[in-house]
Amino acid sequence: MSRVYNFSAGPSMLPEEVLRTAAAEMLDYHGCGQSVMEMSHRSREFDDIVKSAESLLREIMNIPENYKVLFLQGGASAQFSAIPLNFMNGSGKADYIITGQWAKKAYQEAQKYGSVRAVASSADKTFSYIPKTKKEDFDPETDYVYICMNNTIYGTVYHELPDTGDVPLIADISSCFLSEPLDVTRFGMVYGGAQKNVAPAGLVIAIIREDLLGKARESTPTMMNYQIMAENDSLYNTPPCYTIYICKLVLEWIKNLGGLSVMKERNEKKAKLLYDYLDSSKLFRGTVVPEDRSLMNVPFVTDSDELNAKFVKEAKEARLVNLKGHRSVGGMRASIYNAMPCEGVEKLVEFMKKFEAENL
Ligand SMILES: *Cc1c(COP(=O)(O)O)cnc(C)c1O
Repeated sequence: MSRVYNFSAGPSMLPEEVLRTAAAEMLDYHGCGQSVMEMSHRSREFDDIVKSAESLLREIMNIPENYKVLFLQGGASAQFSAIPLNFMNGSGKADYIITGQWAKKAYQEAQKYGSVRAVASSADKTFSYIPKTKKEDFDPETDYVYICMNNTIYGTVYHELPDTGDVPLIADISSCFLSEPLDVTRFGMVYGGAQKNVAPAGLVIAIIREDLLGKARESTPTMMNYQIMAENDSLYNTPPCYTIYICKLVLEWIKNLGGLSVMKERNEKKAKLLYDYLDSSKLFRGTVVPEDRSLMNVPFVTDSDELNAKFVKEAKEARLVNLKGHRSVGGMRASIYNAMPCEGVEKLVEFMKKFEAENL
């Protein structure tokens, strides 16, 4: 067996240790004679799994008591509709900041349900920076302010959150979930699809301040009503059981490594290796302004489409896979989530140096 280094933006690498545990427990989970894929979601075994996943997440992220943790389906994209349906019901207004395609999609979806404003955008420079905002930029009557915290496609991240005063801040953290400590109390809600940094596809985790629940509009589909999901401990219907199980294993892996401050150190070390090289290279360059660079997604280019394609092809032959940039921007992108070991980034930089020497 020989595994590649997979730089995919999502679904993405999982920790090898987690995959080994899952493989070992595949046929017979803890002596119950069946796999987690096969068991009832109402069984005692699964109840233990989902409860441990929640309590590990609460511990690792330091989630306060007054926040609910929900395990949901429909992808991050389903929450683009669920968020306005659940929360845009006071003034019927919401403020969005457009930092890329995912924020834009959320903004466009919300327009179906109320009066939605794009307060700031970085579209003018292909989303290569995070636009600055002041508290006065936000409507104090707005039901919430929405951001995408880490922009998976463009490689920017909020290192400092916007000041929204008393207006709840809602953030899509799909591609930076569990990558570093996060002060949950700064948000009304954070949520993310699991397939970037937490588990396989099929699961969304939402963390919601309790006082915001119970205000969904009448027409909200039951499956998108966060209050109903909370009342049923995320078991209103069959949840993605196996994905929640892998999520639990990933959380145990993070806890055993030392938690989110250790994750952050590891991620900073990996990102620095790559950014330092990009800053010194004469062939490659990063596309994001240095102060807004993501630790998770690193887009870069050469000045030639031909060389970009050659690079992606030869990297693949060297078992460094999925380095092609998003179809909307081209170039390259290395997603270096939690599960990417430091050696993977070292191998990538080594390969880039060799490619530079051969092609400059
Ligand atoms: C991948 C991604 C999404 C879309 O997730 P789906 O689960 O495919 O709907 C949304 N937001 C961000 C930041 C992402 O990285």
